[in-house]
Amino acid sequence: MNTDISENLSAFLGQLAPITYLKPRVEANKRVAQPVYTQQGVTIVGLKTTTSRFLPVSHEGHGIETYVDKIELLGKRRAEFECRKLKGMERRSHMRFFRELTAIYGKQPWETYFEQHFDKACVIPNNLCIACWNCSLFGGMEAGKHAAQARIRFFDTYSVQEAEDCIAMESSEEGMGIGNQVYEDVNKVRGSETYHLYEYVKAGTVFPFITFIENPTVLDVTGYLAAIRRADVHGYGRYSANHGKFTTRVLSVATGFPRFSVLNMLTWAEQGDVEDHFTGADKELQVRYDHQPKSIILSLEEIEQLEGQLEPAFREYLRILQVS
Ligand SMILES: [Zn+2]
Repeated sequence: MNTDISENLSAFLGQLAPITYLKPRVEANKRVAQPVYTQQGVTIVGLKTTTSRFLPVSHEGHGIETYVDKIELLGKRRAEFECRKLKGMERRSHMRFFRELTAIYGKQPWETYFEQHFDKACVIPNNLCIACWNCSLFGGMEAGKHAAQARIRFFDTYSVQEAEDCIAMESSEEGMGIGNQVYEDVNKVRGSETYHLYEYVKAGTVFPFITFIENPTVLDVTGYLAAIRRADVHGYGRYSANHGKFTTRVLSVATGFPRFSVLNMLTWAEQGDVEDHFTGADKELQVRYDHQPKSIILSLEEIEQLEGQLEPAFREYLRILQVS
């Protein structure tokens, strides 16, 4: 094992599933991601802050108007960020990153590599291979034939700030955004047929998040951390080419199931002490995770060391795929 990692990180890595579990098995002449049942899990917790306009929209608007999802929760109206939207963006981001890594370390175009090792080029959402690392983590189905169970769990999240403060809407000072449906980023003369109004979550709005990975390998955890950083730049929500940029602060990576929820985090964020629940400095506030025999919680420095394990883990994955 790598020498520049702490004893605590080494114990954390010791609780993860081996990368060999990511090698697909063969089922009726088709490669399929194998089910992994180690009964272990890793929880990743953090705060996502918008750095641009963000449009969490899960419904059709009215006419030319688009509204941000809102919900009444813990005594406040808040912007709602549905987890299936989070999952969709992060899965795509993970796949782009995976292809990039494959091209670099596999030393051939990703499509060729995927065809050789997963039977086809995996395409989200309608032509999944259900054999690759991405399918093993996010799950998938092949029309009536094979399925891979998702190992990653997402939770809906909500703005810490009140809707009236964090959403630009008709009644707010800024008013709604004005956009062009089709040519959002092209300097064309706007015809009235494509002109529209949209509500948006303003920059500086905070959304706590919790992600849980079942039966994780080190590659899953490091790959997920890299995928969220990239998704932040790529954008979440509607019109993500221009909008929906975030910055993410990871507060905790630990083995085990969380004994707290996004709702707890909203309350802590409002009290202004959300970080104190994760640093370990205050034993009373420190969050707990359920894990047998013992949950290992990484420090921020150890999370950085963990991220450094991505490259060797990916090389190991490619090596395992070569072995017949
Ligand atoms: Zn796939």
